Amino acid sequence: MDDQLLIRNGRVLQEGKFTKADLVISGAMIAEVCEKRDDRKAANRIDASGLTVLPGFIDIHTHGGCGIDINNAAGRELDELTVFYAEQGITGFLPTLLTAAQEGFKRALRNIRTVKEQGTKGAKILGIHMEGPYLCKAFKGAMPEELIVPPSIEQFEEYDRISGNNIKLVTVAPETEHVVDFIKHVTLKDIIVSIGHSGADYDRCMACIEAGVKSATHLFNAMKPLHHHQPSIIGACLESDIFCELICDGRHLHPGIVRLAVKAKGMDKIIGVTDSIMAAGVPDGQYKLGPADIIVKDGDARLADGSSRAGSTLTMIQALKNIVQFTGKGLEQCIDTITYNPAKLLGLDQRKGSISLGKDADLVILDRDYNVRFTIAEGKIVYCA
Ligand SMILES: [Zn+2]
Repeated sequence: MDDQLLIRNGRVLQEGKFTKADLVISGAMIAEVCEKRDDRKAANRIDASGLTVLPGFIDIHTHGGCGIDINNAAGRELDELTVFYAEQGITGFLPTLLTAAQEGFKRALRNIRTVKEQGTKGAKILGIHMEGPYLCKAFKGAMPEELIVPPSIEQFEEYDRISGNNIKLVTVAPETEHVVDFIKHVTLKDIIVSIGHSGADYDRCMACIEAGVKSATHLFNAMKPLHHHQPSIIGACLESDIFCELICDGRHLHPGIVRLAVKAKGMDKIIGVTDSIMAAGVPDGQYKLGPADIIVKDGDARLADGSSRAGSTLTMIQALKNIVQFTGKGLEQCIDTITYNPAKLLGLDQRKGSISLGKDADLVILDRDYNVRFTIAEGKIVYCA
């Protein structure tokens, strides 16, 4: 068949182990995984000798990169951003919207919907992450305080409608008013609720987890610290079985905290995210994060007044290198944190997040030094070094 793509001789990750295998991609799917394939029929082939074939990376928390800010981008720009993500090994992501004034927020939802429906040149849009406005003002991070409001089912419904029902994940703070009703409502719609930007106490957070919360937004960052008499949101997130996002750029979390989180949660509940802003992949300078002015120096992004760190300049491939380095564990033990685990949280694990017969052909091919050589999203080569 002419439209088949054959990936030969790669070191392929399957069920937690590397094996030498050939992969046949037909259309958007993995059609064959075998020891050695007769390659005479495949029109397109990649020689992956000496290379490692992994599931494509999934970033559930990113605000932009390559000079493009998701809150303020539309059309061609958003599509360009998907190409940047593909260069970093990402095959699927949740464009993450920061708290913004209603009109701007709605415009951003429409813009993402349009680009998702048209189809992207690079990584695929798997849905939208709404990071706010239902957060705690005292833990706002880089969010504009005056725009932070209590959860509103009515407003959320309007946003979801405008997005074409593409909202997949919403971050809320457990101390906000009527939050339990909100969590139950959203969860019934199969939308994931994550808790974060919060100073809530342990009991309040456990009640939210009981009500359906499935994840924590950048655990430890923009949260009340853990105290042995007041375990706070961090204690509840570590003790329960929810997923926890970690920003592993070496700035947001001490490597010892990454190891502690992995030990407490198990690798299967950790999700590596970038929380990257438009300054990822471009030089230091002045940038925007939604409505806020940002200054990036030595790769460290901060609000222009210096009061708070404001997202990261991390890329997914660097996140993977860091997780391997910080934990001292093998690539095969760390890879799920940016592939299978986010797919599982999003309810997409039957199709995405691992390499096996019949799954979406979302793949990244790395050399020994973790350079991305090829990225394949739903069967198409979207990046080639
Ligand atoms: Zn964020």
